[in-house]
Amino acid sequence: MSVFSQMKNLPYWWEEAPRRDEVGPEPPKQIDVLIVGAGFSGLCTARVLAKAGKSVLVCEAGLIGTGASTRNGGMLGPSFHKLGVAGLKARHGKDTAYAILRESVGFVDFVAGLIDSENIECEFHRSGRFRGALRPSHYEQMAREIELLKSEAGVEGEMIPRGQVRDEIGTDRFHGGLVYPMDAGLHPGKYHDGLVGCVRAAGATVAAETPVTNIARTPWGFRVTTPRGVIEAGQVAICTNGYTSNITPWHRRRLMPLRSAIIATEPLAPELIQQLMPTRRMYGDSRRVVAYYRTSPDGKRILFGGRAVGPGDKPAANARALRGFMLEIFPELGDTAITHSWSGLVAYTFDHAPHSGEQDGMYYAMGYCGSGVARASYFGHKLGHKILGDGEGETAFDRLAFETRPFYTGNPWFLPAVIRWHRVADKLGL
Ligand SMILES: Cc1cc2nc3c(=O)[nH]c(=O)nc-3n(C[C@H](O)[C@H](O)[C@H](O)COP(=O)(O)OP(=O)(O)OC[C@H]3O[C@@H](n4cnc5c(N)ncnc54)[C@H](O)[C@@H]3O)c2cc1C
Repeated sequence: MSVFSQMKNLPYWWEEAPRRDEVGPEPPKQIDVLIVGAGFSGLCTARVLAKAGKSVLVCEAGLIGTGASTRNGGMLGPSFHKLGVAGLKARHGKDTAYAILRESVGFVDFVAGLIDSENIECEFHRSGRFRGALRPSHYEQMAREIELLKSEAGVEGEMIPRGQVRDEIGTDRFHGGLVYPMDAGLHPGKYHDGLVGCVRAAGATVAAETPVTNIARTPWGFRVTTPRGVIEAGQVAICTNGYTSNITPWHRRRLMPLRSAIIATEPLAPELIQQLMPTRRMYGDSRRVVAYYRTSPDGKRILFGGRAVGPGDKPAANARALRGFMLEIFPELGDTAITHSWSGLVAYTFDHAPHSGEQDGMYYAMGYCGSGVARASYFGHKLGHKILGDGEGETAFDRLAFETRPFYTGNPWFLPAVIRWHRVADKLGL
């Protein structure tokens, strides 16, 4: 029997937190704020606004929570800017670079506080994250970067020399690594369900199967068209991230959608899990084309994620590719069945940073560059305050322009070639 013979093409998370086939109440005809997209960004925006007494409608194209927010790895961290401390300083100046880094350190605490205050049962756990160095030079680079992050932004981190790697992860692939003890993990399906519950409890309407098909300016706000009716909205917030379409071409021109995919193994023997992931952290490594792995919250399975093989949803091909990468780290899993394979869309930006703000009267939060569990929650929350205009919506990221490139319209045709090149560079150790 093949290791894929029992594989389901749906997120492992949906087993315990299934998506519900509910359309919900008829959308109101008039609303203070209409939010497009019911992922973490849209829900956290709605939460702030509904609690402040605004009437809020969240329109979701599909079932509630079928975007990236219930498909991710459930890993939370500050997601430091890809450019690193030196790159950020060179590009934006010292003050902005430090402000961005310090603010990022607070992302996980923000989510922890939100989960706590709303009593959301989502298996949030301060597991810490281990990042393995695939080459000795990567280890040295990590050591230099963490020293800067410690001194400049107050980040906690501990270098793990090669001889101690097996205390963290059961592989000999790494030449040492780095532990971020404040990073965390959660069950994204349960977190999302919890957010929907608290947004509804605050009085907002979350409407499934209500795709926004047109947004037109009016003298008093916006006229928003959906197949379930036309809605007059005082304000509009776009929270569509990787699923942003030509309905908002300004945003689409600034985002590069990219597919990320995950597989889940069958439940493993407790001794094997203990050997492979003894500290039950979130894991990643120093390769250019990202890979991320963890146990399921019950500690029984391994979930292994990375870039999908292409822009379309190809669960079988993704599973074969991801299993190959997983076996490079854990050859012990050669006979282990893969039970789930799924994927979803994330959105990269040209400056590697998320963006929230206002354009042509419409608000937006998006561009989390593949790390949006904490960021989408945080920037959604900030967006709610931006719409309220109460000053709490400010972030250091506001100082960064939301860039596009000449002739770019939203189809990142060049990315597959870029990813292929990075995979070759990973193999060659460049
Ligand atoms: C496989 C995978 C693994 C990931 N792993 C991690 C991880 O471990 N850690 C991490 O930090 N991040 C991770 N991410 C990224 C993270 O999930 C996202 O950045 C985050 O969920 C974005 O939230 P969002 O609310 O902005 O967007 P989404 O959750 O994608 O929601 C956008 C919603 O907008 C809706 N929409 C689009 N157009 C319309 C329209 N016209 N009308 C109505 N609705 C519309 C879509 O249907 C969608 O539901 C991962 C993503 C994927 C896909």
